Amino acid sequence: MPRIAKVEPLTQTRAVRGPFDYLLTNGLSRVDVGSVLTVPFGGRRVRGVVVGLAQESELAPERLATPLSALELGVPAGLVSLALWMADQYCSTPARALALVLPPGAADGRTGAPKTALVAELTPAGVEALSNGARLTQGQRAMLDLLRRDGPLPAAAAPLAHAGLRRLAGRGLIALGARVQERRPSTTAVGARGAATPRLTGAQASALQAVVERLDSASAQSSRGLLLHGVTGSGKTEVYLQATAAALERELGTIVLVPEIALTPQIVTRFQERFGDTVAVLHSQLGAGERADEWRRLRRGEARVCIGPRSAVFAPIDPLGLIVIDEEHDQSYKHEGDPRYDARCVAAQRAAQSGAVLLAGSATPRPESVHTLRRLRLDERVDGRPLPPVRVLDMRACPTLLHPDTRAALADVRRARAKAIVLLNRRGWSNFLSCRSCGHVWECPDCDVTLVLHRAAAQLRCHHCGHRRALPTRCDEGCGSVAVARHGTGTERLESELIEGLGSPDFPIFRLDSDSVSGKDGIAAVLAEFDAAPAGVLLGTQMVAKGHDFPDVTLGVVLDADATLRFPDFRAEERTFAMIAQLAGRAGRGPGGGRVLVQTTAPEAPSIGHAARHHADRFLEGELARRAALRYPPFGELIRVVCSSPSPGAALAAAEAVGERIAPSPVDVLGPAPLFRLRGRERAQLVIKAPERAPAVRAVGAAVDAVARRRAHRGVAFSVDVDPQ
Ligand code: ADP
Ligand code: ZN
Ligand code: ZN
Repeated sequence: MPRIAKVEPLTQTRAVRGPFDYLLTNGLSRVDVGSVLTVPFGGRRVRGVVVGLAQESELAPERLATPLSALELGVPAGLVSLALWMADQYCSTPARALALVLPPGAADGRTGAPKTALVAELTPAGVEALSNGARLTQGQRAMLDLLRRDGPLPAAAAPLAHAGLRRLAGRGLIALGARVQERRPSTTAVGARGAATPRLTGAQASALQAVVERLDSASAQSSRGLLLHGVTGSGKTEVYLQATAAALERELGTIVLVPEIALTPQIVTRFQERFGDTVAVLHSQLGAGERADEWRRLRRGEARVCIGPRSAVFAPIDPLGLIVIDEEHDQSYKHEGDPRYDARCVAAQRAAQSGAVLLAGSATPRPESVHTLRRLRLDERVDGRPLPPVRVLDMRACPTLLHPDTRAALADVRRARAKAIVLLNRRGWSNFLSCRSCGHVWECPDCDVTLVLHRAAAQLRCHHCGHRRALPTRCDEGCGSVAVARHGTGTERLESELIEGLGSPDFPIFRLDSDSVSGKDGIAAVLAEFDAAPAGVLLGTQMVAKGHDFPDVTLGVVLDADATLRFPDFRAEERTFAMIAQLAGRAGRGPGGGRVLVQTTAPEAPSIGHAARHHADRFLEGELARRAALRYPPFGELIRVVCSSPSPGAALAAAEAVGERIAPSPVDVLGPAPLFRLRGRERAQLVIKAPERAPAVRAVGAAVDAVARRRAHRGVAFSVDVDPQ
């Protein structure tokens, strides 16, 4: 038995670098890699994770401390190595990375003890008593009958009072015992389509076969992952379902990553219908207890399929056969905390390390995935319906929010008693306010951005820091004019215009954005209402374009489609293409057919043109050629360093210093460039472009550490983002 546990303490300080040796005594049996211990550490007790075992330590045994206790369930050893890999890849610390893979609550000690309940169960003597005419009251007989028919029952739900149950238990006819009761998260069923397994189309069948071949091949470890590039409505989800079934047949578990659980209730419903209780759901909006229970079900192997957003990539499933990444183009797979991991890269690493198959799917895959994964195609919709025709409407000469053709199309939908989805990727009423006499523009006091008008709340809000203030009635920059102009349109104003122009009790207008709904249940409720309504409009931000499957939507509209293009980001084209193609995917899924209108002031932009003609391949070819020329991902690596500080000039100076330290290595350093002020802090960024990731991450990490230690840069915060999105 190993005597030494190498423990990584879960402290927040970057300066502490473990692991540290602890002496295992007989009291703590079954300590293994992945065990979660409480250990004495620098005069405190802290949680720590066992990252290795050894027979000998470099320190004498009497100098080693002994762990105080261990959690009953630790994490699978594979997740420990995954976390350590992540710490390295994303310029973070082992403690921060390990905190992501621990049982819910373990890092802060709130594990949510399992809830137990008293359960009644029929004994053999009880079965006997039912048939041999033993002396039983009517209530007692009914109770035993119920247990025979339905199996064990919580005492609280029994028709017999507690004393009555005790009496039966006393006669040995039933057994009463405390059982752990799992808290199962409830989900709103949206778009239930029945549990029957449909016959696959030819394209689906060959995609499935490719997955199954990898499941069965011993060399899955070394092979690349798979990319299911299927147009919207081509039945990708059905391939995920049957691939999961194939993994389960082989006693292997599956992780299904979805962009955001609230926006994808349909896929959860379909997995639960197909596989029942073996599906666990893990996401941050579950209660602490529910999350801990779902985690335990997975860890003990009672559940073998886990659906959730990016953090579900750490689900404690062992052995793992398959990781599905649905809508793999979605930006939510990137985590914005430390470590700034990308769940898609972590999934690829986890699949490689555990011999599982990686299956990423999208109608608008990323150029990176097209380049690195083996592509499986589903080029047609399951029902053989064509993709809806897309018309681009030039808004350069159109002063109104809606183009006349858009108005007419919406009126047609209303007349036909059908449904439309309208996307405007901007919240609020107006983007900004200005004074008509002096030109003053209302800005956030803490960020260099304009404040957005939210009319229902009678507030101006900063969309970056959350700052709010009351609506001004006159110019407060001294001029005092009451002529305040409102510029631009957001979803709130669009909703009001649509209600005025179209809405009626039998043609409801639903708005979906982060102001109009809160939480997972709020979003699911709006989607369910829209699904259930016989006709109407769903309008909102990007939320409305995510994988929903509403068969009766005949019109999709994108307003201000070039808004995403105006961001100075090399992924702007890709995002614009995906947004239009995804929205087009929501339309025309039923017998009513469908069409799509795209309003833009940049009708000649290639991303818009290709999306309108459904030319995914041509778009991807162009993007990959452009990126190869610029050495952008996947042909090079990008690392972003952001320095921020409340004192003027400090952020820029620190960024310069970091740049100077990195410069001697064979990488390109772009910048520093100032970013807009955020939450009262000036910011400056450096972008490092390098041919290879690992050495570049090391060089950047070392440079940041060195600069952060200098007194001259005290008070500056540094954030390193590997492969920024
Ligand atoms: P995608 O995920 O590619 O957008 P879905 O998986 O949502 O497509 O499939 C679209 C619709 O087609 C769903 O309602 C689904 O139940 C149905 N479907 C999928 N595969 C088949 C099949 N082989 N036969 C019949 N219907 C199918
Ligand atoms: Zn003014
Ligand atoms: Zn602000």
